[in-house]
Amino acid sequence: MTPLENLEQWVKTCKRCSLYSHRTQVVFGGGNPEGKIMLIGEAPGYDEDKTGKVFVGKSGQLLDKILLACNFSREKEIYISNIVKCRPPGNRTPTPEEQAACLPYLIKQIEIVQPSIMVTLGATALKALFGSDRRITRERGNWLMWQNNIPVMPTYHPSALLRNPALKHDVWKDFKLVILKYRQLVEPNHYCKYI
Ligand code: URA
Repeated sequence: MTPLENLEQWVKTCKRCSLYSHRTQVVFGGGNPEGKIMLIGEAPGYDEDKTGKVFVGKSGQLLDKILLACNFSREKEIYISNIVKCRPPGNRTPTPEEQAACLPYLIKQIEIVQPSIMVTLGATALKALFGSDRRITRERGNWLMWQNNIPVMPTYHPSALLRNPALKHDVWKDFKLVILKYRQLVEPNHYCKYI
């Protein structure tokens, strides 16, 4: 078993917060564990809880469109996980206690995957990793650093784009910066027909 598979087995039995009692399945993460870009969402939704797969609902379908425009895919460049691994009832935002209980798993995932670039999707992921005083409207589009060595691009969550399509313009700007960073740090010849 790989270290990531080992961690996943462990997390599948987790009862560190009360979300375990509502879950159908733990949603650990998905995509390519060897991928150099790690996306971090908030929490599984209805479809993810049912399937055990990350970002497969409406938000996930929009995310895949964004990735396709970048010529990135979950099979190659992308690994995805969430701040919490179990669905909060009614898709409410996970509480600070639930986030704190689950965060060590994400931090371990980051250590194992060793991405070159991370992208936080939405305010919850930004605040969970960088502090509750962060504001997504202020910080998106600007590189942050995770533990002084991994550049992180905060951007809006795909569900925010579904509610407010006008935000798509900013998210595309942010992903263009991710493409440029990917060319700098990982693959200088990464092709994207738009940039
Ligand atoms: N929203 C998230 O933040 N994560 C998922 O896995 C699905 C929807």
